Amino acid sequence: MSDEIGFIGLGNMGVPMAKRLIGGGAKLVVYDASESARATMEEAGARWVGSSKEVADTAETVFVSLPTPPIVEAVLTGDVMSGSAVKRVVDLSTTGATTSIRIAKALAEKGIAHLDAPVSGGKGGAEKGTLAVMASGPREHFEIVEPLLKHIGKVFYIGDQSGLGQTMKLVNNLLSATAMAATSEAVVMAVKAGIDPTIACDVICAGSGRNTAAQDKFPKAIIPRTFDYGFTTGLMYKDLKLCMAEAEELGAQMLVANGVKQLWQIVHTELGPESDFTQVVQIPEKWAGVEVRSKD
Ligand code: NAD
Repeated sequence: MSDEIGFIGLGNMGVPMAKRLIGGGAKLVVYDASESARATMEEAGARWVGSSKEVADTAETVFVSLPTPPIVEAVLTGDVMSGSAVKRVVDLSTTGATTSIRIAKALAEKGIAHLDAPVSGGKGGAEKGTLAVMASGPREHFEIVEPLLKHIGKVFYIGDQSGLGQTMKLVNNLLSATAMAATSEAVVMAVKAGIDPTIACDVICAGSGRNTAAQDKFPKAIIPRTFDYGFTTGLMYKDLKLCMAEAEELGAQMLVANGVKQLWQIVHTELGPESDFTQVVQIPEKWAGVEVRSKD
């Protein structure tokens, strides 16, 4: 039996998380539908194979970091579920509770355990191993993978019920999106009045308006106009849609969140799903006729 850990989905988040696992001493067998990360992963010491099935034929524990709920479901209930070695899967993607519960049920019928472990903290947090990891699912399987999860961030066990980690992640991302949307409007207003955006963000971070957008996203990717934070508009809009659908199902009313979702719907339509989510600022910029750029 192989002592390799499986990892499927080597994108913006998958590559740095897989590298953290290797750095922590794990041997990885990996696959992605695109070969673009192959050289990087092989250089880091991973064994690249030709399919998700091959990963699940080799490893007892299989991590996935895939883009959308339909893709996560297709891979887990298809290739992975038919693997001969797999005993548990750990879904690091943002999948939403409904899909996650359905996947857990399908896998359970084949004797495979399913854990949610969505993450927050972006590509930078994944590189540093400082992500917030929100796990849920059977405790005995969580305890087996907890030492591995600790290499990628701070681990929280939300509960044994499938989907709870996913709901926690949607709640977190709603706040992240709200901070980005509200800070974009506020900083555009400051710039329109003649205030330098770097000064505006410094003041906000020293004052009561402090939030993750002003602290991190504005100085890193918006004020320098690089828009390369590494999280696409398509994925942000997906998370907001999942969150609103879940809130509706739970009977939780959300006024502010609806406005935030509408703003991302506009970004999605005007700038496209592949735009970086920090480009949300370009919508209020266009409306106000200014750009958030430092004067020096
Ligand atoms: P990404 O698009 O950069 O990476 C996804 C990878 O999955 C790609 O390399 C793609 O080729 C691969 N893939 C797609 N279909 C596949 C298939 N059928 N089989 C094998 N591989 C397949 O996405 P990402 O930004 O790394 O995000 C991954 C997940 O993590 C998403 O659910 C996202 O919402 C979540 N997330 C992202 C961030 C972020 O900052 N980027 C932060 C937290 C959570």
